[in-house]
Amino acid sequence: MAKYTESKCRLCRREGAKLFLKGERCYKAGVCAFERRPVAPGAHGAGRKKVSEYGLQLREKQKCKRIYGVLEGQFRDYYEKADRMKGITGDNMLSLLERRLDNVIFRMGVGASRAQARQLVTHGHFTVNGRPVNIASYCVKPGDVIAVKENKKDNKYFAEIKQMKVGNMPKWLEFDPEKLEGKIIANPAREDIDSNIAEHMLSLIHISEPTRRTPIS
Ligand code: SF4
Repeated sequence: MAKYTESKCRLCRREGAKLFLKGERCYKAGVCAFERRPVAPGAHGAGRKKVSEYGLQLREKQKCKRIYGVLEGQFRDYYEKADRMKGITGDNMLSLLERRLDNVIFRMGVGASRAQARQLVTHGHFTVNGRPVNIASYCVKPGDVIAVKENKKDNKYFAEIKQMKVGNMPKWLEFDPEKLEGKIIANPAREDIDSNIAEHMLSLIHISEPTRRTPIS
């Protein structure tokens, strides 16, 4: 599986926004690289100003990919799936990304970042409707019950999660820290997704792209 291994903070600086890719570190005063240096990385980062319409669309797409930790080919697949669904393609895309199992674990507060949530999933800590699932991109649906595996519940990490207070849970999710179990109440609507993404640009960029895989920029 392809994986982005460079500095995550560079991605925030490239997108000109905090993408919250590093969990708790992103909320600590004075340590966020984007707050300290809010310009694009590279020798000419501070000089890049004029952006074309295509450039704006590209940046929006890159930002979305980077927030959800998805690479180009998989993102393209999400677009094609969203395009075949009823409704607005951009909204459908965000809904599909939001329903990834790693994102759901992050939204429930079990992972401090999507990257950490993905690692917990791929290391086989969860079940969906009682069956073990270790696929980060697994797409959940309303009614699904997501739980920590019985034999992992005494693990130190999950013991701390049990003491956690449920914070601002999205309306479409439920999570019971004591039971280490959550439920998908509904599919996420656009207003339930707090990501700062202009979703209409996600479909425009794919329409204007001539090839299946574009280089990462
Ligand atoms: Fe982005 Fe700041 Fe978090 Fe680094 S610490 S990932 S720059 S939000």
